[in-house]
Amino acid sequence: MKRKCFKSILIIIIALSILAICKLPQEQTVFKEEARTSSKVVALTFDDGPSRYTSMLLDGLKERDVKVSFFVLGSKAEKNYEILKRMSDEGHLIGNHTYSHKNLYRLSAEEIFNEIDKTNLIIESITGTSTKYFRPSYGLYNQKIEELTNMKIILWNLDTLDWKIKNSKQITRRVVSTVKDGSIILMHDIYKTSVKAALDIIDKLQEKGYTFLRVDELLIR
Ligand code: ZN
Repeated sequence: MKRKCFKSILIIIIALSILAICKLPQEQTVFKEEARTSSKVVALTFDDGPSRYTSMLLDGLKERDVKVSFFVLGSKAEKNYEILKRMSDEGHLIGNHTYSHKNLYRLSAEEIFNEIDKTNLIIESITGTSTKYFRPSYGLYNQKIEELTNMKIILWNLDTLDWKIKNSKQITRRVVSTVKDGSIILMHDIYKTSVKAALDIIDKLQEKGYTFLRVDELLIR
């Protein structure tokens, strides 16, 4: 009786082992597939510059070999010729953020066109390349504005509120805790606290396996 019981247990153990061996490669395949297809990519975008802090940001980006997207104001770009040229030479994306940051809803069609066209001409004359990316001031746009621009409108899906918080640690914490794959992060390179936060965000998210892309590269994905 005892021997019969022992035999049964032995058969069960062998059967379970065979099952486990058969199941293992399948699970490993699934895991590998997930690792291969999940890509943690985000884009950092900076509005309202260039400013006196932009060079500091460009230095930090160069050290980290990270490319970002700048949505510049025409009025600031024409006063910061060298910074704009450097952005372009170092491989960052330059987009149009109007000439003077007015609320486009309050402007006539001609005024809207001028805000955009003037900035495009400034960007092209400094960098030698035209841009097809536009971010309206305050993110406000409608069909009329869209038709007038004839450009790709780029907004964001993660607002850092850096202009309001003005505290590097808090801005970094906000982004690191809410970031997702595909986040287009809105920042402003006109505050020192934002520049510091941006570099900390890059370091922290790179540790977590994130890759930073220009917004045009992110959209292709
Ligand atoms: Zn803005």
